Amino acid sequence: MGASLDGRPRAGAGTGTPPLRAQLTGHGDARVRHHHGRPVMRLLLVSDLHYTLPQLDWVVEQATEFDIVVIAGDHLDIASPVPLPAQITVILEYLRRLQAAGTVVVSSGNHDLTGPDDHGEQAALWLDEARTAGIPTDGDSLGVGDTLITVCPWWDGPVGREAVAAQLAVDGARRPERWIWVYHWPPTGSPTCWTGDRHYGDDDLVGWIDAHRPDLVLTGHVHQPPFKRSGSWADRIGPTWVFNPGRQIGPIPAHIDLDLAAGEAMWWSMLGREFVRLDADRAPDRTVV
Ligand SMILES: [Zn+2]
Repeated sequence: MGASLDGRPRAGAGTGTPPLRAQLTGHGDARVRHHHGRPVMRLLLVSDLHYTLPQLDWVVEQATEFDIVVIAGDHLDIASPVPLPAQITVILEYLRRLQAAGTVVVSSGNHDLTGPDDHGEQAALWLDEARTAGIPTDGDSLGVGDTLITVCPWWDGPVGREAVAAQLAVDGARRPERWIWVYHWPPTGSPTCWTGDRHYGDDDLVGWIDAHRPDLVLTGHVHQPPFKRSGSWADRIGPTWVFNPGRQIGPIPAHIDLDLAAGEAMWWSMLGREFVRLDADRAPDRTVV
């Protein structure tokens, strides 16, 4: 992973209203498709809904307000009394509704793993059905206008890890003006993985952020950080913003509204709202905790 990754090969070659082209590629192959959507201006991030159906209903209701809805993993809940196959059927139906409302992007989380893949590592095999329906998911990359979204899986072993490294290298070499990652687990050392008594984060992601310096990393997994003193929903690591909306009970999920045109992110939870400007050089001090 070398210097060429810093290059930004094309920053909107078109003028006026260029055709909105999206590339959906998976696992290194080069499938390309056209995209019906607008440029990514407003993005909704939720994660760890864990089969909380009222929260999914809320996301569906909100979806038309956003250009992209990202659900950063843990769609299922392995502790639920509802059998996983039934959960999967319901979640796939929600994803279809979200797709009908606009563009939805989903990564897997650790609760979503349903069996070994071809390499004997655990994977969210059921998300292949979402992919078949045209929903960008694990291992896919979605290009919309000047934005590239790389969707990383919850990887379970060395082959999966190398696949993520390769995916990031490929996308790093063709990154456009804005590069967004979806990755279930926040990086180690960040307030976005602070549980209240320890940092619980992903070591590999630290290295990948350092190597590639993406613009945004959208995470989840650790439910507590936004609700804890010294934790946060937002962190800036070099040029990279990391977000984790956290998880709360109730009909409305904790969520982050990213207004990329305005250069602002807003976190909403039952505690209230917080804002950060994306041109700030660090995350602001917390106000609600
Ligand atoms: Zn979770």
